[in-house]
Amino acid sequence: MKSVRDAEAIILNLVQPLDKERDIEVVDLLNANNRILANSVISPLDFPHWDNSAMDGFAVRYEDVQNSSAEHPTVLEIVEEIPAGYQPQSIIQIGQAARIFTGAVMPKGADTVVMQERTKREENRVFILAAPKPQEFVRHKAAFYQAGTELLSAGIRLNAPEIAVLAAAQCPQVSVFRRPVVAILSTGDELVTPEQPLQPGQIVDSNQYALAALVRECGAEALLLGIVKDEPVALQDAIAYAMANADVIISSGGVSVGEYDYVEQILASLNATVHIRAVEMRPGKPLTVATFPDPHSVLYFGLPGNPAAVLVTFWRFVRSAIKKLSGVAGGWEAEFLKVIAHSELRSDGKRETYIWGKLLLIDGVYEFSPAGGSQSSGNLINLAQTNALAVLPVGKTLICSGEEVEVLPVR
Ligand code: AMP
Ligand code: MG
Repeated sequence: MKSVRDAEAIILNLVQPLDKERDIEVVDLLNANNRILANSVISPLDFPHWDNSAMDGFAVRYEDVQNSSAEHPTVLEIVEEIPAGYQPQSIIQIGQAARIFTGAVMPKGADTVVMQERTKREENRVFILAAPKPQEFVRHKAAFYQAGTELLSAGIRLNAPEIAVLAAAQCPQVSVFRRPVVAILSTGDELVTPEQPLQPGQIVDSNQYALAALVRECGAEALLLGIVKDEPVALQDAIAYAMANADVIISSGGVSVGEYDYVEQILASLNATVHIRAVEMRPGKPLTVATFPDPHSVLYFGLPGNPAAVLVTFWRFVRSAIKKLSGVAGGWEAEFLKVIAHSELRSDGKRETYIWGKLLLIDGVYEFSPAGGSQSSGNLINLAQTNALAVLPVGKTLICSGEEVEVLPVR
């Protein structure tokens, strides 16, 4: 049985990220949100593109105005008006200024902008009422970014700020990693779909739905293979199909040691290498992780059947694996927060225990409140509205209300 930490390291080590030449596609910038940048972007443009004004005011020669004050203002001749978007026509000479607006190109000869609040205008003359600092309110060409250097690095997730940068750099299309394909199958003779009439003893295949949502949340494509009977041939066919059509396979159910649990047997017949058979955690102990032989380096997760165990093991391990596979450059490991326990948290201390519940913001401090009702891995109902899992390490049986606890945010 592997510790949770070892299992995470083994899994991340098994993941082969998508190939940055073969596994890419070009998307319009408007469809690039949440995609992973495949190649670094270098712009031929400087930012700012030219020296420009940071204020509405007057472009001046610092030398001319350095001794200005309200009592002894400097008087300059206004030789031009430069709104944003216009190319200045004149070169500012001794005793001259240009009316300038925010973002407008600085005229040659001028090196400083005096904000309009520190001036007084009379027709084509301006009175400078206070001495500016040298080069004040000028944004210099290339001060924010130099053409030819790296603008955005490969492996970052594109969201609003990055998309704005790409738009500004005139990249209307962008090269991103394709979405990884994750096959999802549910095993069990007792399972029916939500549409089928429920006979005594049957259970609805909720895991398929939960996993589809989780996979899509990770930016991957879900390949839904439905319910597979507890029959070796059916299961072998489904896994073989998934192997040929997906980057990752997730099955739920059938991995414990019950008589009808065939997964291990099927994996052996498909020449899979099993890396993990059980993890020292609750829920989620019977987690199986395997890889299939080349040419496809397909990663297989056999999740336990219990719906709570499916969610917890996905959040703890599968999410990180999909992140690495997707081409994200680093930081794949699950990230924990230290918060305050809102009420006491208990475990038998035998395995690393994951308690589902909510992060609450109370007077500006995050507190974790466990879901009411049973924390049994068979209970799905009180998982609704979970946004975090609290973690009790092996050996820890109690965290009192008000004490610090580590949580894994899941939404
Ligand atoms: P198993 O791991 O196959 O022994 O399943 C453990 C428990 O999870 C059993 O109570 C199953 O009925 C339940 N279960 C298995 N698969 C699913 C599924 N796809 N959706 C909901 N519950 C399931
Ligand atoms: Mg089963």
